[in-house]
Amino acid sequence: MDSSGAVAPSSIAKKSSLCRQFMSRPPKLLPRSRRDALTRSEVMSRIRSRDTAPERWIGKELRSLGAHYRRHVASLPGTPDFANKSRRWALFVHGCFWHSHKGCHLASTPKSNLAYWRPKLERNLDRDYQNLQALKRLGFRVQVIWECEIKSRTLRERLKRFLPRTYLKIA
Ligand SMILES: [Zn+2]
Repeated sequence: MDSSGAVAPSSIAKKSSLCRQFMSRPPKLLPRSRRDALTRSEVMSRIRSRDTAPERWIGKELRSLGAHYRRHVASLPGTPDFANKSRRWALFVHGCFWHSHKGCHLASTPKSNLAYWRPKLERNLDRDYQNLQALKRLGFRVQVIWECEIKSRTLRERLKRFLPRTYLKIA
């Protein structure tokens, strides 16, 4: 923006793409000053979008382990990020902030607007629990991968243990 208050076209384009990125949370709750103070990963954890970088990474790992899956399976409780209905497994990739990862540095409750955030995060937690139970009642094995675990050395081993053995003939 120049001194007259006019906005150059290129900066409008930049702004609108930024707005799209932040669409998932109400802008007034996270003023610009606060947003600037956030680390990139904090910002990412606040965005609930499909096909996030952690999900892409998990997808690659699953494929390399020979797993077949569908993405965002809306016909199952909680719309698992990855699932195979005939093999009865479902996997969620949870953002640590949105799903209140216990003891995780990415999951700290915002200090302002507690009246807004607390019930919202508690609802998420409750919904996650209900979905997990519903899937288990359907006979599904369920795995939750946290955003902060992505690329950790132990994660591939965990995925290996979780997936049906038949996938792992080649791996
Ligand atoms: Zn975490």
